[in-house]
Amino acid sequence: MALYVQKYGGTSVGSLERIESVADRIDRWLASGHRVVVVVSAMAGETDRLIDMGGRLGAEGGGREMDMLMSAGEQVSIALLALALRARGHASRSYLGSQVAIRTDGSHMRARIVDMDTRHLSADLDKSVVPVIAGFQGVGPDGEITTLGRGGSDTTAVAVAYALKAHECQIFTDVDGVYTADPRIVSSARRLDAITIEEMQELSSLGSKVLAVRSVEFANKYKVPLRVLSSFVEDDSQNTGTLITHEETAMEQPLVSGVTYSKDEAKITFVGVPDTPGVASDILGPVGDAGIEVDMIVQNTALDGHTDFTFTVRRQDFSHVMRLVRDVRDRVGGREVVGDDDIVKLSVVGVGMRSHAGVATKMFDALAKEGINIQMVSTSEIKISVVIAERYLELGVRCVHSAFGLDQ
Ligand code: ASP
Ligand code: MG
Repeated sequence: MALYVQKYGGTSVGSLERIESVADRIDRWLASGHRVVVVVSAMAGETDRLIDMGGRLGAEGGGREMDMLMSAGEQVSIALLALALRARGHASRSYLGSQVAIRTDGSHMRARIVDMDTRHLSADLDKSVVPVIAGFQGVGPDGEITTLGRGGSDTTAVAVAYALKAHECQIFTDVDGVYTADPRIVSSARRLDAITIEEMQELSSLGSKVLAVRSVEFANKYKVPLRVLSSFVEDDSQNTGTLITHEETAMEQPLVSGVTYSKDEAKITFVGVPDTPGVASDILGPVGDAGIEVDMIVQNTALDGHTDFTFTVRRQDFSHVMRLVRDVRDRVGGREVVGDDDIVKLSVVGVGMRSHAGVATKMFDALAKEGINIQMVSTSEIKISVVIAERYLELGVRCVHSAFGLDQ
């Protein structure tokens, strides 16, 4: 009799029919003798709708009110699911984050979970009551409602699984697992039976939307067993999804496990800045002070005492950064500042890279054969990322996917 934490995302509870189907699935798991704690997202599109309404009335500066607003979506879905479970003869109780309580550091709209009270949940489980917990929300030290950042229900689920020492945290979503590439772009992409947590963490931070990156970081740090599976496949025996493993198998790892991309990129180049100490910090200082995250940074070899300095930021921050850096340019000098937001970041991830050379060359060759120019490169132990023009995204993903033999 194992304990499972099951998280159902927005599309999985997107309509009353979908909620009924989720209740049926939980009913089946309970019937096979398991105990289940459920975490749910808001119904599909609901959080976007709430944020949009808030924005129209001036969300600026209103972190507290935005949290109040955004957290409302989950209150609806937990109550509906608890009702559907009761209709199937199961005692069930819905909980807001504050009722559990899931305690956070209190920072609005990007709070971190600091600890969790498990008393209600354990008492429910002892009485065969199914707790249904609102994802994405918690309560700050001052009793204020806080949210965990978009996609935060995944993090709630992993944290609950950790706190209850669940056998497995199961993330039910609209795809049946983690793929070697986005199947909408690469028709030959394959579902992975297993992937290491390190690879999953890279994939999530490099653009894969399957799991929120913070949930994967949490699962990695606390070794929470995690599985991604479909809420649309009815036959549970066919629905094994992708297991996120905490150990590399003894088997030889493939060089590359997956290809991913992010369109949320923009780059800024300072052309012909003086190659003197302090320039990089002069350029990036104001960007950091504005709370904007810089991703890749490339500085060319100096020529005649001048150099080009390029960095990338998220696309949503692009116009803000362009405004900031124009002032900087007046101070540091340099020929011009060029911005480009028609770029994407394409990445390959694999723990097999650790023990093999030539992975970057293979990727660059594949892109070169298709005439795709590489604008920037960054690498770490288990990933290689390149920046290319957005119009080459699909071609780039496909050619790299097949270069690493992921089609087979
Ligand atoms: N409903 C929230 C969002 O849309 C949290 C989640 O779905 O994980 O971001
Ligand atoms: Mg999600």
